[in-house]
Amino acid sequence: MNQEQILEHFRDTNALLEGHFILSSGLHSSKYLQCALALQYPSDAAKFGRAIAGHFINENIETVASPAIGGLIIGFAVAQSLNVRFIWTERQNGEMTLRRGFSVKKGEKILVVEDVITTGGSTRECIAALEKRGARISNAASIIDRSNGAAETGVPRIALVNLDVPSYTPEECPLCRQGIEAVKPGSRQEVEK
Ligand SMILES: [Zn+2]
Repeated sequence: MNQEQILEHFRDTNALLEGHFILSSGLHSSKYLQCALALQYPSDAAKFGRAIAGHFINENIETVASPAIGGLIIGFAVAQSLNVRFIWTERQNGEMTLRRGFSVKKGEKILVVEDVITTGGSTRECIAALEKRGARISNAASIIDRSNGAAETGVPRIALVNLDVPSYTPEECPLCRQGIEAVKPGSRQEVEK
């Protein structure tokens, strides 16, 4: 599966919209990503899982971990493909932590998987929560890297697709300047209401 085939799947499922969007941050962008739409069918999620797992087949990964909620489906799919354990971190009072009785061994070799990396923030928080408990995070991975390689996670990282998605303040947005109407795609919050 190459980058273009993956993007085609994202467009076909409306997981990648192109136009003029107002992001939840208030910034404007010509692209909008909602990865969950690309993973609705388990067979698609499994395909992306195998593609990511292929990069780590000889790495003796013991466990795959993901930050909830975004990383859950793809993390599970990668773990299934590598035939290893899958756990996740989630927020408690704002802090990313390991709950539900999940534990890690000292030195356990873990791959952290997310759906989309933007700034790398939730991957870094997931890594920190696991390292605090003695695990060793060897790598990080995502389906999409919308920082086009710029996001730092502190560990070697791969993405199936690298996207350069510039965002602008409304004042400096070139699409606004062209008079194209900006739309606000359904946000996660709106869906959860
Ligand atoms: Zn704009």
